[in-house]
Amino acid sequence: MPARGWQYTVSGRLCRTYLYFAGIMSIVAPDVPLASPFAAYRGLDDALLAERIEAVRRRMGSRLVILGHHYQQDGVIAHADYQGDSYQLSKSAADRADCEAIAFCGVHFMAETADILANRPEKVAARGGRRVTVVLPDMAAGCSMADMAAIEQVEDAWADLGRVIDTADITPVTYINSAASLKAFCGRHGGIVCTSSNARAVLDWAFARTKRVLFFPDQHLGRNTARAMGIPLDEMALWNPHDSALGGNPREQIEKSRVILWQGHCSVHAMFKPEHVDAMRANLPGVKILVHPECSMEVVDKADLTGSTSYILGQVEKAPPGTIWAIGTELHLVKRLEQNHPEQTIRFLSPVVCMCATMYRIDLAHLCWSLEHLERGKPVNVIRVDDETAKWAVTALERMLAVK
Ligand code: SF4
Repeated sequence: MPARGWQYTVSGRLCRTYLYFAGIMSIVAPDVPLASPFAAYRGLDDALLAERIEAVRRRMGSRLVILGHHYQQDGVIAHADYQGDSYQLSKSAADRADCEAIAFCGVHFMAETADILANRPEKVAARGGRRVTVVLPDMAAGCSMADMAAIEQVEDAWADLGRVIDTADITPVTYINSAASLKAFCGRHGGIVCTSSNARAVLDWAFARTKRVLFFPDQHLGRNTARAMGIPLDEMALWNPHDSALGGNPREQIEKSRVILWQGHCSVHAMFKPEHVDAMRANLPGVKILVHPECSMEVVDKADLTGSTSYILGQVEKAPPGTIWAIGTELHLVKRLEQNHPEQTIRFLSPVVCMCATMYRIDLAHLCWSLEHLERGKPVNVIRVDDETAKWAVTALERMLAVK
């Protein structure tokens, strides 16, 4: 849109305001006084925010990488350099030699992973000592699942287990959806990280080394994966971190368990119920039910296909026109699939909205706020994992990468 502008001084600092011909909108240029509180951005028009975000992207060029998780809302995804799952995204950004700053439009643990991978000692050395700055546009964008396992709780559980069984014969496995401190715990204790794509291969790796696995924080991914490997339910214990008596288990249950599942879950995927599968089958003849393994075992048992986000995308991608799907995973991803595949019928599995409410906190206002501060060298919401935690977290991540 054509614009005209002028410069003027406010409080002794130079500002540049561009007025549209319409005369109703202004764009604040990079030399607006910062650090502005977020409140200054709240309520700004989306079109204006989008223009300011793109303006920062143009000015910073390849020095800035914006990452957009698959579950992110469309308006934010439109500004992302990469769209993907948390590990893919972090790796893509870390592999960019020219990147100076990452804005992660995801949740807190994802930004931690990006910081860990982008600022590995060898990468920092290759950049002549320069670190990549990682920001999370809204610090309130956490993950309910990751928050269900605090490092103190995991360390307590490890000590409690050690009173009953030999912890040298347990491999701790953390889902990548967890805090950096938990990844570091796994690194220090011979453990490993897994994603929803490689959970089975990681458990194979773990069982080749030890008799048992402690799997956290998602009980459902752990249970669904272990069952698919033929491990019976009575050889799995569910560890309640709020129950001080062996996580709520009799000693005999711990002794006979090969898999100890942390009692955590994703609040989004927990909303899919077996009756939703029944209703879809009744109302949509020929429907294929496709769900994420963070769904409960009861839902997975009724589904036709279960797999990670990449698997879900791949299944729809290769399906012939006319395929009918009901998909059980985050709403924004399913809606985007529906838009991108009009040749297929794609339905959301649940009658209620199941979206990642914390990720939804990253909106255009927060993205614009964080980018404009980044550009001015006054970053807000910087995610920085301490060196010791990062070192052990990388150890656990590297073990995962070595698993074929
Ligand atoms: S969808 Fe679930 S696991 Fe993923 S970020 Fe949101 S709360 Fe966490």
